[in-house]
Amino acid sequence: MKDLTRPILPGSVIGVLGSGQLGRMFAIAARRMGYRVHTFSPETDTPTGQIADVEIRAQYDDLRAVRSFAAAVDVVTFEFENVLSETAQAAAEFAPVRPGGHILHVTQHRLREKTFLASKGLPVTPFCPVRSDVDLEAGLARFGYPAVLKTAGFGYDGKGQTRINAPEEAAPALAAAGSQEMVLESFVDFACELSVVAARGIDGDFAHWGVIENVHRHHILDLSIAPARISPAVRDEAIAIARAVLEQLEVVGVLCVEFFLTRDGRLLINELAPRPHNSGHLTFDACVTSQFEQQLRAVCGLPLGSTALLRPAAMANLLGDLWRDGSPDWSAALRYDQVKLHLYGKLEPKAGRKMGHLTAMAPTVEEAASLVRQARQALTPTP
Ligand code: AMP
Repeated sequence: MKDLTRPILPGSVIGVLGSGQLGRMFAIAARRMGYRVHTFSPETDTPTGQIADVEIRAQYDDLRAVRSFAAAVDVVTFEFENVLSETAQAAAEFAPVRPGGHILHVTQHRLREKTFLASKGLPVTPFCPVRSDVDLEAGLARFGYPAVLKTAGFGYDGKGQTRINAPEEAAPALAAAGSQEMVLESFVDFACELSVVAARGIDGDFAHWGVIENVHRHHILDLSIAPARISPAVRDEAIAIARAVLEQLEVVGVLCVEFFLTRDGRLLINELAPRPHNSGHLTFDACVTSQFEQQLRAVCGLPLGSTALLRPAAMANLLGDLWRDGSPDWSAALRYDQVKLHLYGKLEPKAGRKMGHLTAMAPTVEEAASLVRQARQALTPTP
């Protein structure tokens, strides 16, 4: 086992479980600072693998492969939270895993996550576990309509969730879920969605990028702007809640807290992501230290960097749908000279698949949001 007290310095090897765009941007930050990156996933020629020094292809439950991967690196991190706990444990036999496997255990299961947050007195969307039609009926009687039924495990971007608008929709929603454990949530008629991306170092240092305002389309993040247009009191409260979450979970790394802001000004946690987050992508261009570099600093036991926002910024996701009529017109978007293009190197554009994003910076968030929307529009001109 490696010495856990010494910082992991440039030249060392970072292992990333997972191989998507979050790992890719992490690998870019790590290689820029002189680290080597190994990535592990069941695929090849992946967004992360294209940047990494070494791309290991194996199944996550191939624990022999996981152990040999971990033995070849100085620290293991992950870029998605659905890493199996036995995978994290096997890796931890050979290298520190940061954030720790206990955080994956809590955050990869909605019911565990919400129960944990509620037990710490943190505000969460009202919820109840659903294991039978009796539970569902009781939950609907408590929350009223509409309500949202979600799978307890392995859900993201609205996958595995159904809105129940009326009593007759309850039985079909539960039947569609099969035998999975579910969570029923009250439907929040929110004023807006917000997130706080934050980091915690090995010594307990805390850093955050303020509050980011998010707009979703079809349950997938569409647009993020920073700073969020909210009152200073809501801002301070969101940051204090995020800090409490990172401290309670003893996170070493980056974690994002997603919130609903209700129309009467209350913050409710929707969910946690124990890694860099899509809403923090704008930090890559618009902040002194990006969420990816910060993750690297945190997991290596180095001092955290400044999170100062250089200019108001907006980020627009580029989904596979944009490729419907052929390749998007990149030069048309790049004519906006305050806009930065990020593409993830994914070979197959599919509807709803995150292929890249645009970031714009401007004197105000409104201008940044308008610029990034115009640039995205320019990618697929309507005749
Ligand atoms: P999730 O996968 O749980 O993050 O949900 C994706 C998106 O669905 C959220 O960002 C919201 O826009 C919407 N959503 C999820 N849960 C609720 C809820 N309880 N009330 C209202 N909207 C919700």
